[in-house]
Amino acid sequence: MLFRELSEEQRQIVATIRDFVERDVKPIASEYEHQDRYPFHLVDKMKDLGLFGAIIPETYGGLGLDYTTYAMIVEEICKGWMSVSGILNTHLIMCYVVAHFGTEEQKRRFLPAMARGEKRGGLALTEPEAGSDVASLRTTATRQGDVYVVNGTKMFITNGRHGNAFALLAKTDTQVKPQHRGISCFIVEKGAPGFTVSKDIRKLGYKGLDTCEMIFESFPVPADNLVGGAEGQGFKHVMSGLEVGRINIAARGVGVAQAALEAAVRYAQQRKTFGKPICEHQAVQLMLADMATKVEAARLLTYSAAAKKDRGERCDLEAGMAKLFASEISLQVSFDAMRIHGGYGYTDEFPVERHYRDAPLLIIGEGTNEIQRVVIARQLIQRYKLAD
Ligand SMILES: Cc1cc2nc3c(=O)[nH]c(=O)nc-3n(C[C@H](O)[C@H](O)[C@H](O)COP(=O)(O)OP(=O)(O)OC[C@H]3O[C@@H](n4cnc5c(N)ncnc54)[C@H](O)[C@@H]3O)c2cc1C
Repeated sequence: MLFRELSEEQRQIVATIRDFVERDVKPIASEYEHQDRYPFHLVDKMKDLGLFGAIIPETYGGLGLDYTTYAMIVEEICKGWMSVSGILNTHLIMCYVVAHFGTEEQKRRFLPAMARGEKRGGLALTEPEAGSDVASLRTTATRQGDVYVVNGTKMFITNGRHGNAFALLAKTDTQVKPQHRGISCFIVEKGAPGFTVSKDIRKLGYKGLDTCEMIFESFPVPADNLVGGAEGQGFKHVMSGLEVGRINIAARGVGVAQAALEAAVRYAQQRKTFGKPICEHQAVQLMLADMATKVEAARLLTYSAAAKKDRGERCDLEAGMAKLFASEISLQVSFDAMRIHGGYGYTDEFPVERHYRDAPLLIIGEGTNEIQRVVIARQLIQRYKLAD
């Protein structure tokens, strides 16, 4: 890290997380990832560290951290193993949605248990036929007395197997235009019949973490679980939560890229060719310099977006830029780290192959980078609108 002012509290938190990652995450990451094995014991440690309540206000039992500190935590975790940050990300986006848009009763019912990690959350937006175009989702929630009856299929849901509560988007009005005005957000909990986790999806990377398909068949959700108690607000609520998600993805990109960079710098000093360490070959030096510059630029964009969110300002443009840039450079830097490792980089002996398999998800998740560019451009045009 070249530049960053940390408060004393942030310094202590980062040191604690770094210690957790060095001691508990790094030693098992490769083995667990290759076996696609869920790290239950790390979940317990993260509960002890209070991470499930990282951004939940203290009044509701959380740590009440700002988004900058949260980004630092994510960066540190991803230097060890990106999948571990996935256990927290959608859980905390759901917490954000409840904390900002839920009724007081919903906050009291869900947030303390979520902060303790007893209730483990996720976000159920994507469907087999609706990913980028979230507003075209087909899941419906129909009011019948005190419940809404939910029908539909959700796809790619992180924490789907091991989580037990989800912020689910469903249509309460299928006729209204534009479509997003008919979308509502519900807190759905496992337990009753009609909610099935139907498939665990196998992936290129980001292994050891559950990504699932879910089916809802006449599943009754108490009307009290409609977030904020008002229909038609769900799309807006979740889009606001995705600003936190995009800061999270950007911080992951920085963490993965930093890990790949550090591995490359280390290896380049150990590996000798033509009678000298490869770090003395100019071609390798140029790669290292470009990698380090990209990582630092991504870091600055990420913390700048997080700081804006901390100030309570709208930051979809900045979070979008940070997510776009950090995810793209994460793939580039992990690929360059692999090149610097030569043939060994292509084996499972070194972690760079894992970084290279993890990084592409950052380009796809929380809105693909094509969608990020659309969001960025739309905001730019609004901010620099020509006078009529
Ligand atoms: C491992 C993993 C975990 C995930 N976790 C979750 C989760 O927890 N919860 C959840 O709800 N979802 C989750 N997702 C889903 C993820 O958010 C979607 O995959 C993503 O939003 C893209 O949607 P799609 O896959 O339907 O692609 P599509 O929307 O079909 O896009 C296909 C391609 O077309 C491009 N494209 C689409 N529309 C446009 C446009 N208007 N302009 C330009 N290009 C466009 C896209 O950029 C992409 O390149 C996860 C996905 C993965 C892989």
